[in-house]
Amino acid sequence: MRVLSFAAASALLAAPLHAAPPHQHGVATLDIAVERTRVTLQFESPLDNLVGFERAPRTDAERKALDAALGRLREPAGLFRIDPAAGCKPATADVKAPAFTAGEHSDIDATFTYDCTDATRATHLQTELFGAFARLQRVQVQVALEKGQRGLELRRPANRIDLRR
Ligand SMILES: [Zn+2]
Repeated sequence: MRVLSFAAASALLAAPLHAAPPHQHGVATLDIAVERTRVTLQFESPLDNLVGFERAPRTDAERKALDAALGRLREPAGLFRIDPAAGCKPATADVKAPAFTAGEHSDIDATFTYDCTDATRATHLQTELFGAFARLQRVQVQVALEKGQRGLELRRPANRIDLRR
């Protein structure tokens, strides 16, 4: 369903910045919340960006591709590097494997938390998402700091997110 009434389109435009965009291949979202001693990252992506398909794997190669993608997400140290000045250590990594039930599309959701000595000292976060997932083209980023939130878009091959403002 691609045609929206004017009212529906207006409602979408008025939606809060952190609302996830519609499922769009090539695009993922990353919400970053920085609190004094904690950083939380929420990553959501169409499965297609990670493995090139969105249904249950049918071959060994597809099963391996899915396992590899899930494996990379479960080791966030290789995907995200928070400015060392903040003294952050990974605390939890919660990766929701796709259920492959309804419809022809699937998303993957992952939430990561870090315990930090002082997260407000982090000036940037570096991400290797584009290196890890070749089909990913853009990441829509929301940064929530104590002093407010803003959105930005990271386009391949950019890998640095400014956390200072
Ligand atoms: Zn899809």
